[in-house]
Amino acid sequence: NEPLEVVDPEIAAVLQNELNRQRSTLEMIASENFVPRAVLESQGSVLTNKYAEGYPGRRYYGGCEFVDVAEDLARERAKSLFGAKYANVQPHSGASANAAVLSAIAEPGDTILGLELSHGGHLTHGMKLNFSGKLYNVVHYGVDPETFLIDMEVVRQKALEHKPKVIIAGWSAYPRTLDFAAFRAIADEVGATLWVDMAHFAGLVAAGLYPSPVPHAHVTSSTVHKTIGGPRSGFILTDDLDLYKKLNSNVFPGQQGGPLMHVIAAKATAFKLAATDEFKDRQQRTLSGARLVADALTTEASKAAGVDVLTGGTDVHLVLADLRHSPLDGQQAEDALHAVGITVNRNAVPFDPRPPMVTSGLRIGTPALATRGFGDVEFAEVADIIALTLQQAGDLEALSARVTALADAFPLYPGLEEW
Ligand code: PLP
Repeated sequence: NEPLEVVDPEIAAVLQNELNRQRSTLEMIASENFVPRAVLESQGSVLTNKYAEGYPGRRYYGGCEFVDVAEDLARERAKSLFGAKYANVQPHSGASANAAVLSAIAEPGDTILGLELSHGGHLTHGMKLNFSGKLYNVVHYGVDPETFLIDMEVVRQKALEHKPKVIIAGWSAYPRTLDFAAFRAIADEVGATLWVDMAHFAGLVAAGLYPSPVPHAHVTSSTVHKTIGGPRSGFILTDDLDLYKKLNSNVFPGQQGGPLMHVIAAKATAFKLAATDEFKDRQQRTLSGARLVADALTTEASKAAGVDVLTGGTDVHLVLADLRHSPLDGQQAEDALHAVGITVNRNAVPFDPRPPMVTSGLRIGTPALATRGFGDVEFAEVADIIALTLQQAGDLEALSARVTALADAFPLYPGLEEW
């Protein structure tokens, strides 16, 4: 019963150092967030001890009477949050949710049509080293080379040409809304199943600030840890009972063994919080902050320094900085922001002239700072710091001091001495 700092001081130091890093820097990785303390409590709880293979009421282990309550709550809350008939909340991650979805709706060798990885798609949408690229015959659609938008007529032509079994809509790096009704119409026209992966924008959907895919898709998958801000994990929604049964058996025993009951309990709490006005306010601040960042990177000064924003702005929680004409490549820009205390990730822009490990873009996200309490005033300040850094126009020490002042003004996990 010794505490971690006694049993394993090296790992205890990792936890403490990471808490200090999260507190003292500004987290702008678009896929990250800060979970509420209540979620940390579930994840660090005795539920981690419990095996519960199967589903509530039909487990392969005894002693599941309490974890069943947690999973039922998570399912009910997910369904009501997104207006779906059925939910599976067991996937350990977004990628394992996607593996279960694909194995439920396609056979190896079938054709799947999704957004190209380098145009903002995800690994699980058919990247060649991923299970999805290895098991299925992958065809991709991309964004338009002029507008950087998805052109639904191009998606339709690809679908008509390749007759895919599955059409995938959803993205990891695309700053605009998608037309889910148009995707469904194309799927119906070619007899495909429409799968939407809303991992990135699920929080915006829950708040009513992004179109909901759920009424249009045959199946919708998601993570819980990005805009929703819950535990690192996944879930799947559908309105179709037969498909739901297939999805269940493709999650367990198809892809996974025992569900992570401590994480499922934390998902239940995250879904409960996502139904509140406070959550909606946070998503609104997330969107407004992203627009302020986009504004700062499209000023005359930014453009003169070779900095711009793909599609000219954003409808979502992220901005794709376009550095094709900047002397800084994606790697150098990521490092420059890191040096002033802002964490982002470099990201290939579509048709990127630079290699994938270097890139000509940055993906800058606002969910974590919105969770930390940032509103327009703070986002305008951080947007200015980013713009000056990318323009190589500011004094490094002064910019770092401005980052520190913002971080200090919005303490993360106040009252938590250590973790
Ligand atoms: N789907 C999309 C669209 C994503 O962006 C991601 C994560 O980046 C995933 C799925 C995978 O989630 P995870 O990292 O939990 O496996």
